[in-house]
Amino acid sequence: MRTYEVRTYGCQMNVHDSERLRGLLEDAGYVRAPEGDEADVVVFNTCAVRENADNKLYGNLGHLAPVKARKPGMQIAVGGCLAQKDKASIVRKAPWVDVVFGTHNIGSLPVLLERARVAEESQVEILESLDVFPSTLPTRRESAYSAWVSVSVGCNNTCTFCIVPSLRGREKDRRPGDVLAEVEALVAEGVLEVTLLGQNVNSYGVEFGDRFAFGKLLRACGSVEGLERVRFTSPHPRDFTADVIEAMAETPNVMPSLHMPLQSGSDSVLKAMRRSYRRDRYLKIIEDVRAAMPDAAITTDIIVGFPGETEEDFQGTLDVVRQARFAGAFTFQYSKRPGTPAELMEDQVPRDVVQDRYERLVALQDEMAWDENKKIVGRTVEVLVAEGEGRKDAATHRLSGRARDNRLVHFALPAEVEAPRPGDVVTVEVTYAAPHHLNADVFGAVRRTRAGDAWQRSVEAPADAPGVMLGMPTIGAKPLEPATNGCQVG
Ligand code: SF4
Repeated sequence: MRTYEVRTYGCQMNVHDSERLRGLLEDAGYVRAPEGDEADVVVFNTCAVRENADNKLYGNLGHLAPVKARKPGMQIAVGGCLAQKDKASIVRKAPWVDVVFGTHNIGSLPVLLERARVAEESQVEILESLDVFPSTLPTRRESAYSAWVSVSVGCNNTCTFCIVPSLRGREKDRRPGDVLAEVEALVAEGVLEVTLLGQNVNSYGVEFGDRFAFGKLLRACGSVEGLERVRFTSPHPRDFTADVIEAMAETPNVMPSLHMPLQSGSDSVLKAMRRSYRRDRYLKIIEDVRAAMPDAAITTDIIVGFPGETEEDFQGTLDVVRQARFAGAFTFQYSKRPGTPAELMEDQVPRDVVQDRYERLVALQDEMAWDENKKIVGRTVEVLVAEGEGRKDAATHRLSGRARDNRLVHFALPAEVEAPRPGDVVTVEVTYAAPHHLNADVFGAVRRTRAGDAWQRSVEAPADAPGVMLGMPTIGAKPLEPATNGCQVG
């Protein structure tokens, strides 16, 4: 059997798509190459937002050329946003690439690989609009107990630093019934936590004319038996409406955690970014969320050094960070992205100034996050246990997982307690706060869950764990490195 390897770059949407690419290949009879082995088929699921994304791809392709030269029948495929942007120029620059496919036709991969093999010729197929919804394709998920569920693809916004709309197209929404059917099927397989995914998740419904569709979807998830945790990423402040806040507050399994990109705290920079909201509106949303869910953990994305940003503008960003008291933030140094309006803007900020502002922002945000984490010390929290080791120190061995507010918790396990499995839930008391995690060295109880059973099945009898891929980086342990320029999905 031919083996395969999928290399994923960029945002959660690419993580979701890579689960489909693995499902497609396994359905076509390929098996995953053991860690460290040279695969017969290597698939790159690329990102176009990351700085020097191109150099990274061509560097990796360059490394594979000699491997392919000495491994007859090996195939290389390139998909994702960079393939959608660069199209056939990829095979011009790297003629040893066999297949190039885009963001709208990931379902074509197996057929294109076969066509390239039979014709002994590279195949390039890029569509300008969505072929089939990736969610309808077979999948091999990263985790047995946590899953991504895409509710829409594409984006109708036109943020000037972002290339996503030109590569993923205008927003297309899945029917609510299809989303719920997928959620119910996942829960039946043992999944306990789902993350609803979209470039701009809360404009969900715009395509079928229901602007309250996202709030309704959250409430509908509330009635799925066995689904304990519902999260979503990423909302856009412009479309963040009161009905969504009410749905979050009134639906018990919707988690009190919200990731809402700010990008800048300066109205003139937000205008230049074409973000279509201003700082007061953003702060009002934070205020309303906190009024409805006082313990909600709010995180964000911020770009420093956007063209034309003055010291005064930057002070505006620091001021919003002080007021918003984020539990965490993905912070980005602005860098030019070819093909975006911002690339051509005047007043590009000098690198040393960007670096200096970046360091000041990170220092302030870490201080805020630490203060917020210190308020949790002494509280009892419920943690969904993740795969992998927790933070150890000389005296204590810890496991780790995510609390309901998505904070990372490392918890100590008394020697006499049987270790919980990934997917099980533990109750622990927080004893220490750091800027980016909590330690909980007072142990409460373990609740063994169907998700823990599903994880155990996926370890003991992988064949009996449909849709689960062992050993992949797990959700909940460490967020995938965010792409620069703020497009973290939305
Ligand atoms: S930053 Fe997000 S909301 Fe803006 S265009 Fe890109 S994907 Fe859409």
